[in-house]
Amino acid sequence: MDFDPVRSSDPEVADALEGETTRQQETLAMIASENHASEAVLAAQGSALTNKYAEGYPNNRYYGGCENADTVEELARERAKELWGADHANVQPHAGTQANMAVYFSVLEPGDKILSLDLEHGGHLSHGHPVNFSGSLYEVEQYEMDPETGRIDYEGLDEHAREFEPDIIVSGYSAYPRVVDWERVQETADAVDAYHLADMAHITGLVAAGVHDNPVGIADFVTGSTHKTIRAGRGGMILTDEEYADVIDRTVFPGIQGGPLMHNIAGKAVGFGEALEPEFDEHIEQVVANARALGESMQEQGFSLVSGGTDTHLILVDLRESHPEVTGNDAAEALEEAGIVLNANTVPGETRSAKEPSGIRIGSPALTTRGFEEAEMREVGQLIGRVIDNIDDASVIEEVAAEVDRLTDDHPLYE
Ligand SMILES: *Cc1c(COP(=O)(O)O)cnc(C)c1O
Repeated sequence: MDFDPVRSSDPEVADALEGETTRQQETLAMIASENHASEAVLAAQGSALTNKYAEGYPNNRYYGGCENADTVEELARERAKELWGADHANVQPHAGTQANMAVYFSVLEPGDKILSLDLEHGGHLSHGHPVNFSGSLYEVEQYEMDPETGRIDYEGLDEHAREFEPDIIVSGYSAYPRVVDWERVQETADAVDAYHLADMAHITGLVAAGVHDNPVGIADFVTGSTHKTIRAGRGGMILTDEEYADVIDRTVFPGIQGGPLMHNIAGKAVGFGEALEPEFDEHIEQVVANARALGESMQEQGFSLVSGGTDTHLILVDLRESHPEVTGNDAAEALEEAGIVLNANTVPGETRSAKEPSGIRIGSPALTTRGFEEAEMREVGQLIGRVIDNIDDASVIEEVAAEVDRLTDDHPLYE
């Protein structure tokens, strides 16, 4: 990529930008929430729209000179509506957290009640964690995974809701390898007269491709990230039906944000356009097939997967049985030395701590973007297994690093 203009004005930053491109080229990005956006998306995000103030919405702005901003935002909104079958899309949230904030601020008062999944069980900070605004402004109770099956305990969620009588129930998760039953959560929300926010952050791409059930038309509010399985650059969005369109738009601007990040909205428009191409569905089917192949390869080596497998873009490996001495952090650190970047993660029924958890979360989206298919995913599974089996053996880590070099050389990024 061309950083010449940066280099001539700021070599220190240029070094870091080039370093990051090289790092992404030379390592396997297996953090389940990450991906590689296309050069078209990157270029749109790096465009002169970063200079433009466009407070308001298309054809209703507080500033002049917004014709190109209007075109871009209109395209992003229309494409989002088409991808997810929504009546209304707001593409201005700076990130997924701001999208969730806008939903809460639209329908809750401070002190109202949120029922959501515990962060340690795969929830998100913005679902009511004490260190986040959502935890300090609202009264939060949390449901959990069934530690036996590694799946959402819908029965427990329903009982909990009837007791707690929440104002809103949040579904949608950060580390869940199975299909979420939006209808089932909606039944509970209806029974206790609560709103339902479906946060599909991780699985926006899977839903767009029809590989995961769509919460749009079921939940009152659907939020999502635009940089995870949909490769539209960093940001957030909100999808609703007509009923909530005005309140959501008013809450995003002027309620919680000022001028929209028009350069990012341009990235969203381009990335959504790419996702409307027929090849995108094939790509997502490959993402899921790749996660499954990786999971099978791990299981063949004796590793245990939470829920016994995956229907999505990620697997969650519980190391306690196969490698009781190895924490998720130990595994993630050794793997990073070998060029495989992923994250330690808590597992349902965690017996260690959130800081030193017993699992690792592994995603297939970024490798699939680079062109990996099942055979190579199995190979990557073998490499991960070898490192964890030989966690203190520097020579094994070196051998694996050489294999990672070969695999990454075979799949160039951003040439
Ligand atoms: C990633 C994620 C978000 C959004 O995070 P941001 O970093 O604020 O974009 C929201 N909810 C869930 C469940 C997530 O996994």
